[in-house]
Amino acid sequence: MQEKGSVVSVRAESSTDAFSSLSARFGHIKSLLQKEFGATVFRSWIAPIEVVSSSGGALELSVPTRFIRDWVRAHYADTIKSLWSREFGAIAKVDIVINARKAADSAAHVSTPVTANENANGAEVISSPLDARFTFDNFITDSSNELAAAAAKKVAASSAAVFNPLFLQGGVGLGKTHLMHAIAWHMRETAPARRVIYMSAEKFMYRFVQALRSRETMAFKEQFRSVDVLMIDDIQFICGKEATQEEFFHTFNVLIGQGKQIVVSADRSPSALEGLDEKLRSRLSGGLVADIGPTTAELRLRILQSKCAMIKRSLPQDVLEFLAQKITSNVRELEGALNRLIAQAELVGCSVTVESAQNILQDLLRVNDRRLSVEDIQKKVVEHYKLRMSDMLSQRRSRIVARPRQVAMYLAKALTEHSLPEIGRKFGGRDHTTIIHGVRKIEELLKEDRLLQEDVEAIKRAAMTGAF
Ligand code: ADP
Ligand code: MG
Repeated sequence: MQEKGSVVSVRAESSTDAFSSLSARFGHIKSLLQKEFGATVFRSWIAPIEVVSSSGGALELSVPTRFIRDWVRAHYADTIKSLWSREFGAIAKVDIVINARKAADSAAHVSTPVTANENANGAEVISSPLDARFTFDNFITDSSNELAAAAAKKVAASSAAVFNPLFLQGGVGLGKTHLMHAIAWHMRETAPARRVIYMSAEKFMYRFVQALRSRETMAFKEQFRSVDVLMIDDIQFICGKEATQEEFFHTFNVLIGQGKQIVVSADRSPSALEGLDEKLRSRLSGGLVADIGPTTAELRLRILQSKCAMIKRSLPQDVLEFLAQKITSNVRELEGALNRLIAQAELVGCSVTVESAQNILQDLLRVNDRRLSVEDIQKKVVEHYKLRMSDMLSQRRSRIVARPRQVAMYLAKALTEHSLPEIGRKFGGRDHTTIIHGVRKIEELLKEDRLLQEDVEAIKRAAMTGAF
């Protein structure tokens, strides 16, 4: 058509042809897309797209949710780009943003990360955006995470520091970030005057290095030191980064000294963080360390049901149960699986069955289908305690090998379906009474021994999350 190769801008439209306005042009593109992909796809994915601008060789579009954005980006962005280029002149790329305002207006609780940086006090300048879905209401609990959730709620509801710091510990995708955002949301709602900063440890480090380069370390320190609540996510990232640790530690001490609340998260306990300064380690252990353990199938099912309700979609109960049974690695993958099935159902326009789910999720299922074996557990135990496999199976009775061996027996009993005699055979041909003794011993010790509890949790997590 016209203006081939030229820059089309929202603000510079003088042409009087039928597609003079940007939205008319995009409307034309939409109708072409409808012809190409059909009515069902159009309704689900194309209709919600709005055009924002077109300049500098980029077409900017907006959609109401992140889910739609990811889907459109993956499936239709290329087609949109080539259609637009053909009809209105070449563009180099299509950017898709989330229309936060619109999403917040319509249904703030559905899958829409709204950038919520509007609290008044300047903390918004450095705090990272919060995901609108990550609220306490949307966090499903059972015994694996209830301590962490209760502690987070307590922190969010208290005007003075309670556990300082609150240290949230848990494997990937088990809800650490969710709880931190929930704290921030709750505070913004109930105490908007309080200054809350949430950011990843990586970003903290990046900011710090930037400040060092531009010789603005004073300002950097001030920003953090004048907050009410400082939340740093994934603190394992600053392990081994000495200058950053040092700065964090000072900030940390100042804030704690002033009675300000600190919340940190990591994928392991303070004692298991390697390359961490000892002063910082002991400070980090000095509040409440709340563990988020592996999920059970029952919890996973409840999470799936809650997610479906949240996005107002449904899948047959047997499909949800199938997912809860099979996707055991972490909640993020579970959600990914759910989204894939829902997208598929909407695109193809037919309902999902266990069989079709099996097909659609082949790759994910394969990864998650690894049944835990006694050997897997032994291997994790050996790695954790830095022993040799032969120690596991040997007759040596010194504590240094005997205790880890008993831990492996305990976990083999707890995490596999094998009988005691079977487990015995896998421990160098031991009698089943030896296995019972080992299991009981660890059960006994776990009641008191905090370090052992941490060891067992860490090994369990490594084994359950399939980190082989
Ligand atoms: P982490 O920070 O521990 O790696 P996230 O907090 O990012 O994990 O959680 C990953 C995803 O799983 C998020 O979408 C989160 O909402 C969801 N999730 C995790 N645990 C729960 C839970 N108990 N209830 C509901 N959603 C959860
Ligand atoms: Mg996280």
